[in-house]
Amino acid sequence: MTLDYDIIVIGGGHAGCEAAAAAARLGSRTLLLTMDMTKMASMSCNPAVGGVAKGQIVREIDALGGEMGRITDRTAVQFRMLNKSKGAAMWSPRAQCDKTRFSEEWRHTLENIWNLYIWQDAATELLFDTPAASANETHPDSTPANNPEKGSGKRPSVRGVRTRMGVEFSCRAVILTAGTFLDGMMHCGAAHAEGGRAGDAASHGITESLRKMGFETGRMKTGTPARLDARTINFEVLEPQYGDENPGKFSFSPETEPVKDQMPCFLVYTSPEVHAILRTGFDRSPLFNGTIHGIGPRYCPSIEDKLRTFADKDQHQLFLEPEGRSTNEYYLNGFSSSLPWEVQWEALHRIEGLEDLHIFRPGYAIEYDYFPPTQLYHSLETKLVSGLYFAGQVNGTTGYEEAAAQGLMAGINAHRALKGEEPIVLKRDEAYIGVLIDDLVTKGVDEPYRMFTSRAEYRILLRQDNADLRLTPLGYKIGLISEKRYAHFVRKNSLVESLVAFAREQSVKAAEINDYLKSVGQEPLSQGRKLYDILMRNNVTFESLQKVLPKLRRFIEKQEIDAEVIEEAEIQIKYKGYIEREKFIADKLRRLENIRIPEDFDFFSMNSLTIEARQKLNRIRPKTIGQASRIPGVSPADVNVLLVKFGR
Ligand SMILES: Cc1cc2nc3c(=O)[nH]c(=O)nc-3n(C[C@H](O)[C@H](O)[C@H](O)COP(=O)(O)OP(=O)(O)OC[C@H]3O[C@@H](n4cnc5c(N)ncnc54)[C@H](O)[C@@H]3O)c2cc1C
Repeated sequence: MTLDYDIIVIGGGHAGCEAAAAAARLGSRTLLLTMDMTKMASMSCNPAVGGVAKGQIVREIDALGGEMGRITDRTAVQFRMLNKSKGAAMWSPRAQCDKTRFSEEWRHTLENIWNLYIWQDAATELLFDTPAASANETHPDSTPANNPEKGSGKRPSVRGVRTRMGVEFSCRAVILTAGTFLDGMMHCGAAHAEGGRAGDAASHGITESLRKMGFETGRMKTGTPARLDARTINFEVLEPQYGDENPGKFSFSPETEPVKDQMPCFLVYTSPEVHAILRTGFDRSPLFNGTIHGIGPRYCPSIEDKLRTFADKDQHQLFLEPEGRSTNEYYLNGFSSSLPWEVQWEALHRIEGLEDLHIFRPGYAIEYDYFPPTQLYHSLETKLVSGLYFAGQVNGTTGYEEAAAQGLMAGINAHRALKGEEPIVLKRDEAYIGVLIDDLVTKGVDEPYRMFTSRAEYRILLRQDNADLRLTPLGYKIGLISEKRYAHFVRKNSLVESLVAFAREQSVKAAEINDYLKSVGQEPLSQGRKLYDILMRNNVTFESLQKVLPKLRRFIEKQEIDAEVIEEAEIQIKYKGYIEREKFIADKLRRLENIRIPEDFDFFSMNSLTIEARQKLNRIRPKTIGQASRIPGVSPADVNVLLVKFGR
């Protein structure tokens, strides 16, 4: 037992678990300090992983060598590929998970990583080598948190953590991933109590010790719905929603299998009667009567918010999602609420199928501290304190996937910094994770940030199917992907290339294919064409073509090409034009990313920039013209001024 570590991760949530696993696997002696080690990566809200844009993030985490994809596959109870009727850029995997098993699987994984140690306790204070830098208020936006070099000149370093039990650990880097726990306050009607989430204590001391160092903080809020007892739900009258007939999986690794024995979800609907009952509690809703001040997630509104915003809607669709295989608990997705519990209970009884309902736990809202993420570099290290990293909900994001992605990157970068290596910063055309972190540190957040496909400019490049092609070579290079897994990846990649090459070279005669083309609603050929050109047509797939083209079937069988390779090759062929166009635009814009702005540049010295641009640039301190161009308030004209100053 030692009290000295390379890296200490505070918090065993989705961000902390990924951070600790990555840092330890890369070789840093890592301590995961968390309040309750039986609740590793606990799902505070819905029992599901993935979904639109979030599913792509999980595939990226997996492709880089993170854990979330594998653990989801091992604990899934249902899998669906969302948006399959749309273009491949929109396909998004989502799995319902067994909540308890998910957490257990994480704990098992963490306890078996050499170099990773766990200590159950609460961190109450961070320790630094020098006291806080004092702000030099030359400009209104020169807060020390954003602009450390305007302070005393010496950037403090983190040197340890003190805990509630009075233990003092020393280290060279800390990754803070305290989630919704910092000064957490839970609300259910007029009742409120301190807590990090139902059943867990709040965390005090950390925000205070960081404020003393000059960090800015804010308050955010989120909410969760009631959990229901399956024995009191009449499933016979409810519409089931089943998983995919041939379920896929999250991990690219051959170690995991698609889910078996899937469990259904069920649809239920609110009604005018339900709405009327809910409205009787509005005056006691902490969301509406001013008790809660924090900013909430616009895209995950409470049921009371929905009734206010869509006052003319007679019904809202809700989803009953199983919380696991060995529990009767069901999660009621879409009914997040902080109304008094008896109002929730009464309203739920008026929903068809829930007339005899018993609820295990009512819905509630929670308010917590976060740190505006413009205080971070792209590595997720804080600008103010060297060696201190923030990841997850503390950065103003919401969602398990967003948290896990940041945790993974913070773990990688904290380790690399200790080795004197450059941080890994994913670009916006490389990964949703790159978009996420760039948005956070460049634009900041004014509400809990969740990922959407619309946030990414290069959606066609950032597909869920090609996350391994984009990121696994990097995961291998930095040391998170094993030799065995990399060999599997190389083989897959070469099979995709050989199938695409086969399609490009192979000619098909009109007589061979015309009956088939007519059967899928396509014009027959007047003369022979390359297989590649035929595959570019709608409704034409490798799978169906195999039945009419024996040479294609023989090639696929001989090379032992599986469904995953076939899907990837087909997407590359069908979307070739779009993919090339996006790559072209990305390459063009990347030039701006390569024009660097000196770290100590004084934007206030440039009178040709607008005052707003000067303030914003000084506040965010972009490292490149590309980053500057994405800061809200910096116009194309300002970008041109910067281009003239810093290069072509
Ligand atoms: C009531 C509620 C409703 C939510 N609703 C939604 C939703 O609708 N949609 C959505 O996307 N997300 C929702 N979330 C958020 C989701 O749970 C988080 O986004 C996600 O869990 C964040 O992961 P994290 O790792 O950052 O933090 P968390 O998962 O919160 O984990 C934090 C970890 O840090 C530990 N910890 C905290 N302080 C200390 C300390 N001082 N010392 C040691 N350990 C500490 C905790 O014990 C915990 O293990 C909700 C959360 C709650 C609580």
